Amino acid sequence: MIPIQSEAEFLAVRDLGKTFSGRSGFMKGATPPVRAVDGVTFSIRRAETLALVGESGCGKSTLGRLLLRLIEPSDGDVRVDNKSLMSLASHEMRAMRSRMQMIFQDPYGSLSPRRSIAQIISEPLEVFGIAKTRSERRDRVAELLTQVGLSPSFMDRYPRQFSGGQRQRIGIARAISLNPEFIVADEPVSALDVSVQAQIVNLMQDLQEKRRFAYLFIAHDLSVVRHVADRVAVMYLGRIVELGPKNRVYDQPSHPYTQALLSAVPEPDPDAPKKRIILMGDVPSPANIPSGCSFHTRCPIASSICRSERPPLAETTPGHYAACHFAKPNPIPA
Ligand code: SF4
Repeated sequence: MIPIQSEAEFLAVRDLGKTFSGRSGFMKGATPPVRAVDGVTFSIRRAETLALVGESGCGKSTLGRLLLRLIEPSDGDVRVDNKSLMSLASHEMRAMRSRMQMIFQDPYGSLSPRRSIAQIISEPLEVFGIAKTRSERRDRVAELLTQVGLSPSFMDRYPRQFSGGQRQRIGIARAISLNPEFIVADEPVSALDVSVQAQIVNLMQDLQEKRRFAYLFIAHDLSVVRHVADRVAVMYLGRIVELGPKNRVYDQPSHPYTQALLSAVPEPDPDAPKKRIILMGDVPSPANIPSGCSFHTRCPIASSICRSERPPLAETTPGHYAACHFAKPNPIPA
């Protein structure tokens, strides 16, 4: 069992789950409920970057939104400072929101096209009464634009006048405007040109170093994750199947799904020997999750126990967990 919650941790999640109810329809037929997040337990330490990886549709974005209570969980708990977010009254939750922010994937859709950059960035300052006058807010926006590498002279322009990378910088300025302790970054670079991705990742890391906040960095690109993460959590069909320090997960992955994902990451040296693990079949529907280990329909080493018994997320070496009946303790190299 993953221990919860120590002083060093900002946030802890226990048995968190979300089921989206199905629809019944006369014309289009009924759709079954979807279990998007299922029994997730982990914590996020202060000032660390925990990367959350997995294929699209595995529940990563839903999990990120559950942590900020942008959507309500169906079961389980999220705790900050040892207090359940679910128990907070609306005014307490509002105050908590200033400590936890989000950077969105789509720098085109996440900024209102009708609002100037100054209005977009100063909105949280206004809502939380941090800068009371217009001139205070403009001064603060100028500072924030400088911190994200944009000229303060841009503040009266509109989002359409900026490139994707510049828009993501504006989204980052908005996210850090309240000095948060924790940011959920939901695929923050996947919509950007490869040439711009490294600049945005470097900016995010510089800001974290200066301001000491924690990230949940949601991504499907394992090359980017290797660059930013302290720890890595791998998600498959709504569950965390592996969690551990980055170097342990990358160098000695315990779960067959992680091993397959990593085998597809190109090596910097094209001549380096690497065996690609090809997974069979498609990811099953989250509306119809396989019995036992939900990965058994694609796992190259599945056996009969995998079809009937769900493996718990168990510690293989200190701080490194895997949900597989056959995950073995990995010796830590001397
Ligand atoms: Fe594969 Fe079985 Fe391990 Fe699941 S429990 S990952 S099916 S070996």
